[in-house]
Parts: sequence; C-alpha cells; structure tokens
Amino acid sequence: MQDFIYTGHPGRVIFGSGTVARLGDEADRLGVTRLLVLSTPEQVGQAEEIARHLGARVAGVYSKATMHTPVEVTADAMGMVERLGADAVVSIGGGSTTGLGKAIAFRTDLPQIVVPTTYAGSEATPILGETENGRKVTTSNARILPEVIVYDVDLTVTLPVSMSVTSGLNAIAHAVEALYAREANPIISLLAEEGISAFARSLPAIAAQPDDRAARADALYGAWLCGVCLGSVGMALHHKLCHTLGGMFNLPHAPMHTAVLPHAVAYNRSDAPEAMARVAKALGAEEAATGLFDLASGLGATMDLASLGMPRTGIDEAVDQALTNAYWNPRPLNRDGLRALLTDATDGVRPS
Ligand code: NAD
Repeated sequence: MQDFIYTGHPGRVIFGSGTVARLGDEADRLGVTRLLVLSTPEQVGQAEEIARHLGARVAGVYSKATMHTPVEVTADAMGMVERLGADAVVSIGGGSTTGLGKAIAFRTDLPQIVVPTTYAGSEATPILGETENGRKVTTSNARILPEVIVYDVDLTVTLPVSMSVTSGLNAIAHAVEALYAREANPIISLLAEEGISAFARSLPAIAAQPDDRAARADALYGAWLCGVCLGSVGMALHHKLCHTLGGMFNLPHAPMHTAVLPHAVAYNRSDAPEAMARVAKALGAEEAATGLFDLASGLGATMDLASLGMPRTGIDEAVDQALTNAYWNPRPLNRDGLRALLTDATDGVRPS
C-alpha cells in the first residue's frame, strides 16, 4: 500500500474545436462584463479575434505580455485594468501571457479565463513566476489559479513545429517529475503517464503534418494533463535547475527544458527506478533518459544548451547556485554529478 494525500484544484475546462465561440457564455457564467484581453505582441491578431467573440463585454486589449512576467509589464497592465475598470482577464497565448493574467489576478483577485495556445500548462497551476531586477521569484496562491480554461485546438495549429516540439517536451518534464515527486500519488501518476503518451504519439505526427487536427488535439490534451501534474505535486532537480539557468543566462524557456530534461532524468534514474520504468513505457522506449533524448532530437530539437546561449564558463556558477537553493530530489545533489549533468546538457551529448 502507498500512503498518499491528494488535493484537487477547482476549475472549469472546455476542450474542443471552435470553443472560443463559447467565451461570451463563459463570461456570462462568471457574471463579468468588462473583460481585458491579454496577449503578446505576436498574437495581437488572435487577441482581436477573441475580442470579436466577446463583443460588447470587452473593455480593452493589452498586447505587451513578455516572457518571464517582468513586474514592470504587470504594473503597466495594472494601469490599464484600473483605467478601464476591468472585472476579468482573458489570456490568449502561451505561458508568458498566462503569466501576466495570473500576475493581475494575484494583485486584484479578478477572475481569469485562459485560452492556451502552447503546451506549457501554466493555465492549470496556482503558480506564478515573476521577474524583478533580473531575479525570478515563484509564488503559489489560490488566487493565481485560473477559473476557466478554454482549450481550442484550432488556435494551436499555427504553433510552429519547432516550438510545438520544445513546448511538448516542457510539458513532458512536468509529468516526468510528477512521477518521482515526494508527493506523488496514484491519480497524478496516471495523468502523468497518459500525458507523456499523448505527446509521444502526437509530436511525431505534428512534425510530419503541422495541421493534423487529431494530433494537435492529442497534444493539447497532453498539455492539460501535464499542467495538472505541475500544479498538483512538487517538482525537483529538473525544474529547479531550469529555473536557475533561465534566471542566470536568460535561456529560452521551452528549448532549455528540452535540452536539460534527458540529463536530469539520467541523474535521477538510479534513485527512482519505478518512475523511470513508467516514463519509458509511456514513451514506448527502452529507457527513460535516452527515450526522451531520442524523441526530441529525432524531431529536430536543439539538444545542446550552448547553442541556446549557455556559456561553458557559467557551468560552475550554475552548479553553485543549484546547490545553494536546497530542495528535495530523489537523488541527493552532489557537485560532481551536477557538473557532469550540465556539461553533458551544454554539449548536447546523448545520455549513456
Ligand atoms: P510563450 O508564451 O513565451 O510563447 C512563445 C512565443 O510563441 C510568443 O511569441 C507567443 O506569442 C508565440 N505563440 C504562442 N502560441 C502560438 C501559436 N499557437 N501560434 C503562433 N505563435 C504562438 O512560451 P511558453 O513556452 O508557452 O511560455 C513560457 C513562459 O511560461 C515562461 O515564462 C515560463 O516560466 C512560464 N510557465 C509558467 C508555468 C506556471 O505554471 N507558472 C508553467 C509553464 C511555463
């Protein structure tokens, strides 16, 4: 018998094709009438389309969401929330836009509707990472958890193949670490296995045919499952290391997760054999670390952190930082092991 504690997060999920047409009904259900639509500058076209679906309920569109949720951008958006008297936010985009919506909700307790267009999974978590003076600080709070998620497969078809692959590996990382989490429990482990399988099936199909709706739906379903994993149990070495590297060297989020994951898994494999067997099974691979490396590299992902901007001279400093922030991991952290992990990830070698 395995003892466990499971806490489910409240939230409403609408999943399908053409579901953005239901946004007006969702706003009415929440009883909100002055919505602020959020996006990045690149997705302002999709934000305007969303605004059309919401009609007179839209108070305005703010399209300056930025990666890593800088507090200056949040302050700017908060000015618009106050000027317009907005009573809810609608975030359309990836983790960066969802992050801005969460930052506003954390400050105001306004309800959030999220329309995810990547596989990052932030929409399903009560976690917010904000950057101030070059440092990313993570907060977890019930106010941060979005009230409604509207998954519309049609909006994900434009996600370029390379971003689909790395975003998918970012999602898989949540599920992998959930399987060996200290708070692992049977429900989340089921979601994790199913989430990994969904991506192992769908990413090769998307790479072969980016507008394959069935594969896109499978990937988006996987993104939801993996996001629930991230929001439900604690993460370990892989996520903490990526957090450190992202903050120190400003590496791109999803590609960095993709290059680090096989090596973090190789580091932990001796101390989490059962989880590794489940990862391998879900991937349809012989072994977890090499299976993850082969999936990503086979789909053209950049596997060396050096190409993503990681300086070789930064490895020791990153190891120092990783060792300073103590956290739980299935295998205790040691300097030589972490240095080897980061050297392998920087060079992009296949785990042995
Ligand atoms: P992103 O949101 O930064 O998106 C990357 C780029 O792709 C942006 O320019 C975006 O506009 C564009 N894009 C998104 N969807 C598109 C689509 N369908 N078609 C075309 N272009 C599209 O990337 P991301 O990886 O989703 O998010 C990364 C951020 O999310 C990081 O800051 C990370 O820390 C955060 N995050 C937070 C959590 C959490 O639970 N708090 C979880 C995962 C990620």
